[in-house]
Amino acid sequence: MIRVAINGYGNLGRGAEQAISKAEDMELVVVFTRRDPAAITTQGAPVAHVDDMPQWADRVDVCLNCGGSATDLAEQGPASAAHFTTVDSFDIHAQIPDYFASVDAAARQAGNLALISTGWDPGLFSMLRVLGEAILPDGATTTFWGPGVSQGHSDAVRRVEGVVDARQYTLPVESTVEAVRAGDEVELTTRSMHRRECYVVAREGADLERIEREIATMPHYFADYETSISFISAEEMAAEHHGLPHGGLVVRRGETSAGVGQTMSFELQLASNPEFTGSVVVAMGRAAARMAGRGQTGACTVFDVTLADLSPRSPEELRAAYL
Ligand code: NDP
Repeated sequence: MIRVAINGYGNLGRGAEQAISKAEDMELVVVFTRRDPAAITTQGAPVAHVDDMPQWADRVDVCLNCGGSATDLAEQGPASAAHFTTVDSFDIHAQIPDYFASVDAAARQAGNLALISTGWDPGLFSMLRVLGEAILPDGATTTFWGPGVSQGHSDAVRRVEGVVDARQYTLPVESTVEAVRAGDEVELTTRSMHRRECYVVAREGADLERIEREIATMPHYFADYETSISFISAEEMAAEHHGLPHGGLVVRRGETSAGVGQTMSFELQLASNPEFTGSVVVAMGRAAARMAGRGQTGACTVFDVTLADLSPRSPEELRAAYL
């Protein structure tokens, strides 16, 4: 059994807990939190304060860091790599090189392995981008996101005067997706690739026209997109928009000889972003525990993980079942 710790019990932490319950070769032994452990109820695993991590070093094979990328992981990544083999889903693309360096230093010093920036993007989508480019070097890769909830854009709508609650969905523009898949000439711009749908609960008596105008013209968030805005009741919001769906599509289109077009695509349709990301993090945890078991240390990424290490099955079983 691979003994797993979860560090940080938010959406992703709970998603990872759920995923561990489906993994026959893994068991959750502890959940770490910065909050009062007594105030947290898990599905059964004990809860410990992050300050007590060192006491768990010999009882944990891999620690899944489920803190937020914006502020938590810069500290949690290096701090936990001092004690455990770790996996995280750090997703601020531009900061990944610096984050890799700081986690790498901590992991090397302690002789541990740290697998960073797993999940689906970065993560599975990154793997498919590398695969697509390796196989079709004469081509282009395009990523579409959604349909899915964007927390940042939902928050931005909630800040508009007169808005009580809001949910924003990012959606790929279907005609552009089809053109990219077919290899047709198409201009890829912010507006041509994605559109935005907002569902808004307004305060009674609020000026709906002004709210609509303020949302549609909001710089950075909506001004550059085709945005649809629907006003709904609080009851409808609770009934229809409580989940955290997401997904997306990576398309590699290339030519192997003049006029011979080839398309590779990888698509995700997720009813729950945190449960799916948690499932990826758990499979990556299995791989990291195995890699660490073979003596590998320092930071690494999804590009260093083999499919065999991700699977609970033996290489013999995999050869018989899937080749
Ligand atoms: P949350 O805000 O739900 O949780 C982040 C942290 O906040 C938790 O680890 C927890 O730490 C703390 N926390 C959670 N709930 C509460 C609460 N009620 N009161 C006080 N503190 C709380 O973030 P998510 O789990 O939704 O997302 C985590 C990260 O996952 C994101 O920042 C993103 O970077 C990443 N992600 C990556 C994806 C990918 O494809 N690579 C996809 C989706 C997400 P503690 O228990 O220590 O207090």
